[in-house]
Amino acid sequence: MRVLIFCLFFPLTVMATLTTPDILWGKTGHRVVGELASQRISKRTLKKINSLLDGESLAQVSTFGDEIKADKRYRSYNPWHYANVKTDETYTDGKKNEEGDIVLAIQKCIQILKNPLSSRADKQFYLKLLVHLVGDLHQPMHLGKPSDRGGNDVKLKWFGRNTNLHMLWDSNMIDDYGMSYTELTANLPKLKAAELKQIAKAPLIVWVNESHDLAKQIYSSLPENRNLAYRYSYDHFETVRMQLLKAGVRLAALLDDIFK
Ligand SMILES: [Zn+2]
Repeated sequence: MRVLIFCLFFPLTVMATLTTPDILWGKTGHRVVGELASQRISKRTLKKINSLLDGESLAQVSTFGDEIKADKRYRSYNPWHYANVKTDETYTDGKKNEEGDIVLAIQKCIQILKNPLSSRADKQFYLKLLVHLVGDLHQPMHLGKPSDRGGNDVKLKWFGRNTNLHMLWDSNMIDDYGMSYTELTANLPKLKAAELKQIAKAPLIVWVNESHDLAKQIYSSLPENRNLAYRYSYDHFETVRMQLLKAGVRLAALLDDIFK
């Protein structure tokens, strides 16, 4: 019986391991971005989005981009979640992925959402993706090096558990902080209105360059001892909180512009 159970479950376990998407802000990070944006958009935008998403919240749809990854039909969207850039190049000058990248993807989502001829189904699909991708773009390792697949191949230990540099920034630090997405949203850095305005009006290329600069700092400050714990969070969790804030503020401004 044990052997039978093992035979039944082993392939499932292996498949789950192989198909687990390894390129994603954790769910909590994405939900914070969606939640913050929904608190900041205008009433008019909120009304239009509620209607388009049939009442689903931005926090709910924020993880959609990763949920479809396991489905083969959506395989062509996998390169949309990142843009790998060498540390001595910029996104603008670097070699582009011919299958697309996160910057082109965000532009495509905006274009479809702004086009009055787009179908309702398309608008719904690309809005869900947009909410996800604005979050991804603010996770610096989504602008990591091509040679280590945005930090996925940089193996580490986090409080003794095996992980990698990408996952550390996607989810390990956030999850171990122990706040729900609503708690984390309520406890993001408090900035002055003028500073928030500055963040909101920065164009897409600034978001990209900021993340890429942070990725470079993350690589260069990686400790020799790859068994990371509290010290790493003390040094870097402020960056995570600031990036989540920026993503939510910018997503809200972008949605207000699209649905104006
Ligand atoms: Zn993603």
